Amino acid sequence: MSVSTPKERRIILKHADDPNYSNRIGCYLREGGYENLKKAFSMQPGEVGEEVLKSGVRGRGGAGFPAGMKWKFLDRKSGKPIYLICNADESEPGTFKDRQIMYKDPHQLIEGMMITAFAIGAKQAFIYIRAEFHEGARILERAISEAKKAGFCGNNILDSEYSCDLVVHRGAGAYICGEETGLIESLEGKRPNPRIKPPYFPAVLGLYQCPTIVNNVETLCNVRHIIELGGEEFSKIGKPNNTGTRIWCVSGQVMKPGYYEFECGSLTLGQLIFDVCGGLRPGRSLKAVIPGGSSAKVLRADERFSGTLKDGTEFDWGLEDIPLDFDGPMAAGSMSGSGGIIVMDDTVDIVEAMANVNAFYAHESCGQCTPCREGSLWMRKISQRMCSGGAREEDADLLLSVAKQIEGRTICAFGEAAAWPTQSFVTKFKEDFIRKATDSPKERDPKSLQLI
Ligand code: SF4
Repeated sequence: MSVSTPKERRIILKHADDPNYSNRIGCYLREGGYENLKKAFSMQPGEVGEEVLKSGVRGRGGAGFPAGMKWKFLDRKSGKPIYLICNADESEPGTFKDRQIMYKDPHQLIEGMMITAFAIGAKQAFIYIRAEFHEGARILERAISEAKKAGFCGNNILDSEYSCDLVVHRGAGAYICGEETGLIESLEGKRPNPRIKPPYFPAVLGLYQCPTIVNNVETLCNVRHIIELGGEEFSKIGKPNNTGTRIWCVSGQVMKPGYYEFECGSLTLGQLIFDVCGGLRPGRSLKAVIPGGSSAKVLRADERFSGTLKDGTEFDWGLEDIPLDFDGPMAAGSMSGSGGIIVMDDTVDIVEAMANVNAFYAHESCGQCTPCREGSLWMRKISQRMCSGGAREEDADLLLSVAKQIEGRTICAFGEAAAWPTQSFVTKFKEDFIRKATDSPKERDPKSLQLI
C-alpha cells in the first residue's frame, strides 16, 4: 500500500468482520447500542431533523440526494399518517453493502430507523427487503422482536408516549422494486410499476397516498452516528458536500474484491483498485471501470477528464485520479451511484460485457413505457446477436440510436439506467464494436440472425 493511501475508516461496518460480535441484541448493547435512540428521545423531533440536515449526509441508495432535505419535503400539514420505509431492495448489479449491514449488524439499522421515525413522526415503519435475502429477512425479524422486547421499538418506546411499529416486508424479486415509487406500489400489494413524479413524490403522496420517507439501509444507519456525533461534527468526516464515509463494493478482476469503507473523498479510484484491492491479476492491464453499479456510465482506463468542480476547483484527471466520493465520478461523466465498482481488465470482451448488462435491463423493465420496454429488448437482441457471430458494422450506431430514443422519455430513471451503459460502452469502445463486426463470419449462423 502506498504511503498516501488512507486506512479504512469503518463506522457503519465497524463490527462487520469482528469474530467476537454477533447480530444479537446483547452484542449491540455491549457496544453502546440504542444509547443514541435515548439521546434522540431527549431532543425534540425537529432538532433531530436539524442535526441530520447539518450533517449534510447524502442518500447512499444511488441518487445521492441529501437525506435531511428529503425529510424537509415531508407534508406534515395533511393530517394523514406518516410512514417510514427502509429501502433494502439492494439489487443494482455490483452492489452488496446493505446485505452486509443487515446480516451482520441489524440493530444498527433498527436504531437508525427508530430515530428517523421519531424525527419525522412516523407511527409505522417498514423494511422492504429484497426477496432473495431470505436469511436477511429472518435475521431482521428476530432483531426486531429483540428490540421490541427491550422497549426500543413498538409500543411506548423507552417508556415514552411515542409508539412506532416496525415490520419486515419481503420484496417481489424485481429490480424495479428498488425504485422508491415502484417499491411503494409493491408494498401496497400491487405490481411494482413506478409512479409519475409529479405528482407522486413520496414525501407528499407516498404509501397509501400518505406522506412517506424512503431511505436506503446505509443512509438510515448513518442517522444513528449523526446523533452520536452531532450533525456538525459528522459533517467534518469526508469532504464538504460529500460527508461521512462510503462503503465501496469492488468486484471484477481485482485480487481482493470485497466491501471497503472509507471517508468520502479520502482516496482515489486508483488507490482503491491498486493498493486496497491488491491490483489486477499478474500480467493484466486495466481496461475499464464502472464506478457506481451497472447503470453508471463505464469509464475507460486511458481516458482523461477535465473541467471545473462545483467549488470552482479545476481538475485534469486520469481514471486512477478520480476521487471516490459523490462529486468525483460525476465530474468524470459517470456517477458513484450505489457504490458498486466493477473492474474490467484487458481480458474482458467489452461487447459481451455490454450484452450482459443489456440482458439484465431488458429482463427488469416493468414495461409501462414503450421506449424502455421495447428499447431495452432491442438493445438486448442486437447485443446478443453481436455476441453470437452476427455482428454488423452498423450495429454500434444502431445501438446508440435505440439508447437515445429511451433516454429522457420514460416515467422513471430506469430508462437512463438502461440507456447509459449502452451509450458509454459504444462511444468509448467503438473499436471493439467494429472489431466484433470484422471478426464475425461472413456466412452467418442462421440461428444468430433469428435473434433480430
Ligand atoms: Fe417501467 Fe422502464 Fe418506464 Fe421505469 S422507465 S416505468 S422501468 S417501463
